Amino acid sequence: MYKRLQLTLFTVFFILFSIQTDRIVRRTTALAQSKVVPAPEDILGFHPGDDRKLASWAKVVEYFQKLAAASDRVKFEEIGKSTMGAPFVYATISTPENLRRLSEYKEIQRQLADPRLLGSPKNPALADRRARDLIARGKTIVAITCGIHSTEVGSYLSSMLIAYRLASSNEPEIQDVLRNTIVLLVPSTNPDGVDIVNNWYQKTLGSPYEGTDPPELYHKYTGHDDNRDWYAFTQVETQLVVDKILNIWHPQIVHDIHQQGAFGSRLFLPPYMQPVEPNVPSQIVEGYTELGNYMAKEMRAAGFKGITTDSTYDAWSPSRAYSHYHGGVRILSETASCRLATPIIVKLDQLRPGEGYDPRKEGTNFGPVWPGGEWHIRDITNHMTTAAFFLLKHAAQNREHWLRRFYQIEKEAVRPRKPGDLFAIIIPEATHRADVLSIVYRAGVQVDNPLPFTADGVRYPDDTAVIRMNQPYASFAKTVLESQHYPDLRDASGRPIPPYDVTAHTLSLLMGIEPVFVRKPFQYQVPKPRGFAGCTGGGPVERTIGLYKSHVPAIDEGWTNWILQQGHPFYLRLHYSEIEDRQIRSGSIAKYDAIVIPDQPRNTILNGHRPGTMPPEYTGGLGEQGVKALREFVEEGGTLICLNRASDFAIEQFQLPLRDIVDGLPRTDFYVPGSILRVDLDTTNPIAAGMPKESIAWVENSPVFEIKSDPLALARVKIVAWYPKDTDPLLSGWLLGGDRIKGKAALVEVGLGRGRIILFGFRPQYRGQSLATYPLFFNGITQR
Ligand SMILES: [Zn+2]
Repeated sequence: MYKRLQLTLFTVFFILFSIQTDRIVRRTTALAQSKVVPAPEDILGFHPGDDRKLASWAKVVEYFQKLAAASDRVKFEEIGKSTMGAPFVYATISTPENLRRLSEYKEIQRQLADPRLLGSPKNPALADRRARDLIARGKTIVAITCGIHSTEVGSYLSSMLIAYRLASSNEPEIQDVLRNTIVLLVPSTNPDGVDIVNNWYQKTLGSPYEGTDPPELYHKYTGHDDNRDWYAFTQVETQLVVDKILNIWHPQIVHDIHQQGAFGSRLFLPPYMQPVEPNVPSQIVEGYTELGNYMAKEMRAAGFKGITTDSTYDAWSPSRAYSHYHGGVRILSETASCRLATPIIVKLDQLRPGEGYDPRKEGTNFGPVWPGGEWHIRDITNHMTTAAFFLLKHAAQNREHWLRRFYQIEKEAVRPRKPGDLFAIIIPEATHRADVLSIVYRAGVQVDNPLPFTADGVRYPDDTAVIRMNQPYASFAKTVLESQHYPDLRDASGRPIPPYDVTAHTLSLLMGIEPVFVRKPFQYQVPKPRGFAGCTGGGPVERTIGLYKSHVPAIDEGWTNWILQQGHPFYLRLHYSEIEDRQIRSGSIAKYDAIVIPDQPRNTILNGHRPGTMPPEYTGGLGEQGVKALREFVEEGGTLICLNRASDFAIEQFQLPLRDIVDGLPRTDFYVPGSILRVDLDTTNPIAAGMPKESIAWVENSPVFEIKSDPLALARVKIVAWYPKDTDPLLSGWLLGGDRIKGKAALVEVGLGRGRIILFGFRPQYRGQSLATYPLFFNGITQR
């Protein structure tokens, strides 16, 4: 008995001791581990958010590598290279247990994202039952994307702070986030820009130019437009995020961290202001409203001031919101900027109203008022990291709710269509059909290539492409294939409220496709999938092109550079180089066959940066000397091509016999904030060779030409494209005062000496999307 008792006591003691030892071992391990998890300052040599401190991309990558090596909560990988060859990376952060089972969670996401895999819609009860089980087991997937706009430096710095806290903290709240979510953290979706901005900042630090933006685009080809590419996928960075993160993980939440100007709200959070693009599911609107309002409420409670919601930023376009068409909400945050990492002082009376709120007055969607004061990069990183952790808290605490909503969206997407609904979009043969189809494929849309079939009484041959609407991401296809009808939104005084970006995103028009929208049921047989042939080209042309590059970065220059770099199937051997003000001013441009001036305001082209605002080598534009050199270039037989606003520069500086009839008109009289208009073409002019008689034009801040009526002028000017005389020119987007431009010229060729100047009153190579009008541009630069 005693022995037994002794033994029992010993056993109890042993067990207790073992538990104790185990606890100690675990604590020591945790401690040792937390000791080796490096903080950002261990690698960078400063704390992210310190005044006047930025990091190079190599240091950011090094930090994440060391963090992942030390922490079993972080997985870090390179998924490709950026435009300029930098590593493109992201981190997956969750509990070690979750990280071991990533493939299982991907599979849960894949099935919830496509309820057809669960039996829906044939057996809805079974599908719902299976979905319930997946929802119970799944995690909220949260993608956090930083640094797409590289001068908005706070977010890539914050990415390291967010990762460090998730990797090192044992707070119950963080444990809850790790258990219930899988965080996909992209430290920068534009790694090249991190270095472009950091190098410029280091170069100018301590000089009078400290805190200025670099005199070049922070993404080689797209600059700020890198965040307008989420439905055309032209750039390698967009492709990497879509192919290797978003399409694999189908995140329920995409948190896109940005900065705005210094003199508005301190922070914007969703909901977005009107209008919402009609194909965005109501559950998405509900989701971003709920989460954005929650974050704003919690931040206000935590003492943050100057927060606005439902203002400035709209949800009109897939160009910034891929996830809105893929079952996830986009939570944009926009924190007020300082000057890169240099602090500023903002006074209350310097604050300026934004669209839908006034930062000096408390209102239903703004407040409490921020009284002004110093504004440091630390304020920015504090706003960003605090907002991100509230977002993660919501994602963790409402895990099932997020997954259920995600499933509901996709269940609705795959339901059988009823009479009156849109059943399918048929895409007949066209030159750029393969270009459009490759875009919708990339967005996860299934395209069928059936045997001959009949729909709406029309018999289609077997080379027809069909997109059925009862599939998960059909709304994406519908959005980019149909015309947009932007609402006529006015403020209290009747003035048009400008859209946040542009009003049209109709790839079918931009790429010359004529889709057929079928609203009745029909059947077809699908043989095994085949590819669709791409466009084929003619012979090579040897031409040397100069592309004007201002020190005031012009996004259209970047896009033109990209388009020339891609080449065109019709014109394979184009030699081109960028030419700056100095080279043109010195007159050494005779070797070029053609010079292109991309879209940029006329004064910027002429005057560039004002003296004193930038280091002297970057100030001044083409100036008088440059204008003289360009005139001589044309008079001696050269071709000068001016795109969009650059046309006004040419009209003024070369006294061309033309007038821009919409120049200086108030928005109430004429307004076209990024829309697709109809134009007629003179196809006998070589510039319009190979084009149809009716085409499109991307119009945004665009001149409209009228020829002066003297006979000399009429002899010098050839009109290549004009807005139709009797038809509404609007095809997609928003146009006010369209009557004014009916019958007026949109593209002209003006003789000067032995050469010519071609004026585009639109953007024929708009954001790498308007393939339908590329031939006008390429003909312009290649035909003599
Ligand atoms: Zn931004």
